[in-house]
Amino acid sequence: MVYDVIIIGSGPAGYTAALYTSRAFLKTLVLSGVEPGGQLTTTTDVDNFPGFPKGILGPQLVADMKAQVERFGAEVVTDTATQVKSQNAKGKSESQKEKAGTFVVWGSSGSDFEAKTVIIATGASAMYLGLPTEEKLRGKGVSACATCDGFFFRGKEVVVIGGGDTAMEEATFLSKFATKVTIVHRRDEFRASAIMLERAKKDPKITFLTNKIVEEILGVAAVTGLRLKDAKTGELMEYPTQGVFLAIGHKPNTEFLKGLVDLDPKGYVMVKRPVTALDPQTETNVSGVFAAGDCVDPRYRQAIVAAGQGCMAAMDAQKFLEELEH
Ligand code: FAD
Ligand code: NAP
Repeated sequence: MVYDVIIIGSGPAGYTAALYTSRAFLKTLVLSGVEPGGQLTTTTDVDNFPGFPKGILGPQLVADMKAQVERFGAEVVTDTATQVKSQNAKGKSESQKEKAGTFVVWGSSGSDFEAKTVIIATGASAMYLGLPTEEKLRGKGVSACATCDGFFFRGKEVVVIGGGDTAMEEATFLSKFATKVTIVHRRDEFRASAIMLERAKKDPKITFLTNKIVEEILGVAAVTGLRLKDAKTGELMEYPTQGVFLAIGHKPNTEFLKGLVDLDPKGYVMVKRPVTALDPQTETNVSGVFAAGDCVDPRYRQAIVAAGQGCMAAMDAQKFLEELEH
């Protein structure tokens, strides 16, 4: 069985891609990976996905997306891609070879799947500190997305951990809701750009705690504070807070793609810059391999953007397949 499209990933990007390819009568397979439904399954209310005036629970939103793609015949299997290889078609001229080859995707189950095109939609994972308490209190005051969860901290005091642009941006955003925002950073120098740092410093609701390492997040049913260690003196202190936002970077889930497509130094999939307005915007350096969502996007990281890019990747794959036949 050779699929027209294999979509690797089952978050908003993957499911939206599958919706478009299956509605275009392309034989579509979705590999759901270790987090079926993607990052939205780890949150509660999603208030900023259009079409849901009362908001919708993240897990419900992606469950509905799955039901929608299955209604149009896409196959969703629980497997995780471990390797993708292109194989050229025999008997084709050199110029045709690249376009007319197929791709084989190996799954961690031991199965392999073949397709004419591949859409990479593997998302990115927020980096966490790796503390056991942090894991326990995720969704109970610990978050890695201020745009998503900031609203729930109206009138509360929160901490943002990190010293880069994301930390400054998250803190500035959170100051609209919270009564006080403290940026906790492990050094006294910042990676953040001067302008973002300045903006945070000028915000009367934002204060800075530098040279502080987070030893533990305190709380049982919800976050109540942090245990911090001074990076210079080793002194311990407890700092009360109701919310902890991690802003220590994101890591795209693209390790297994090394050697197949071009990745940037941080591992994000690089898509080709369009030359004209009609060129595809989701194609990688390998013909027939497209990418969408948080695995290409370190900037916006929103479900609606991932879904939009999934749609674009599906339309680019469809056009690619049409051109193969002519
Ligand atoms: P993801 O949702 O990350 O999905 C990636 C998929 O790829 C997963 O199914 C995973 O299992 C799969 N995968 C990974 N590697 C492999 C592999 N090797 N083989 C097969 N499959 C693989 N955005 C909003 O717009 N509104 C919100 O309210 C909001 N709240 C959020 C709350 C939290 C706690 C978090 C963490 C994020 C939130 N976001 C929110 C951001 C949003 O979830 C992401 O922008 C969006 O999910 C990205 O979609 P995606 O499809 O690109 O990737
Ligand atoms: P980043 O620049 O890599 O900064 C990560 C921060 O987290 C650093 O301050 C780092 O500390 C800290 N950190 C990392 N691991 C940590 C740990 N284990 N414990 C404590 N602190 C830790 O990441 P980012 O801020 O997410 O930015 C990523 C990219 O996106 C950057 O290029 C940034 O410019 C860009 N961005 C741009 C905008 C914008 O222009 N609007 C907004 C957001 C992000 P150290 O400094 O000590 O290493």
